[in-house]
Amino acid sequence: MTFYKEGDKSQAICEDCESVVHTTFQRRNVPFDDGVGEVENVLVAVCDICDRVVAVPAQSTPAIKAARELAVVSVETRLPASYLDRLDYAMNAISAAAATKHRKMFLSVYIDFLARQERAGKAVVCSWKQSDPNSHKGNVGHQVIVRAAPELREQSKRLSLKLNAYIADELLTLQTATKLSRTELFKNMICQMQDDVVNQPKKELVEELKLFARAAV
Ligand SMILES: [Zn+2]
Repeated sequence: MTFYKEGDKSQAICEDCESVVHTTFQRRNVPFDDGVGEVENVLVAVCDICDRVVAVPAQSTPAIKAARELAVVSVETRLPASYLDRLDYAMNAISAAAATKHRKMFLSVYIDFLARQERAGKAVVCSWKQSDPNSHKGNVGHQVIVRAAPELREQSKRLSLKLNAYIADELLTLQTATKLSRTELFKNMICQMQDDVVNQPKKELVEELKLFARAAV
């Protein structure tokens, strides 16, 4: 494998120039393939004619992979306030120390759990479509979860998550599979989480969440 340094010359095919062109190795910020985020200051081959990045040498792959893993994807949605109450309630059932700052961690684990179920061919995702959030009332311990107020009259709150690239990909997979908008997906997901953690706890999931909750700061 050839190692290059800045200023080295090579040749590559440039799609813009539609020909084999001379290139110069330079350090550039390069966007990821999916357009979400970029990797900074990585050695690439730049077309001498049009200045386009035309090739990435093998030696730059680890830096790109690492940056991709560390990339943070901001996910924002507005939900009726009662959904955030549901989420916090489920988190609290796992750990009394769970707080707002742990929402990202709990949802990340849950998104991963659902994506794994989806991959295993369990049709969890489809069941959400028919699920009516208002049907998730019932007795939970001594506390009664009351029927949700009509959403139009309910105050909405912002849910802002910084997900890692892996979880963001899984979220996208779930969104594609369910054909739901992001807001609807989160609403369904939170109701399902309430079922899986509080109403009819799934042992494997609860154990996982407890493990993460114990390690969380
Ligand atoms: Zn070019």
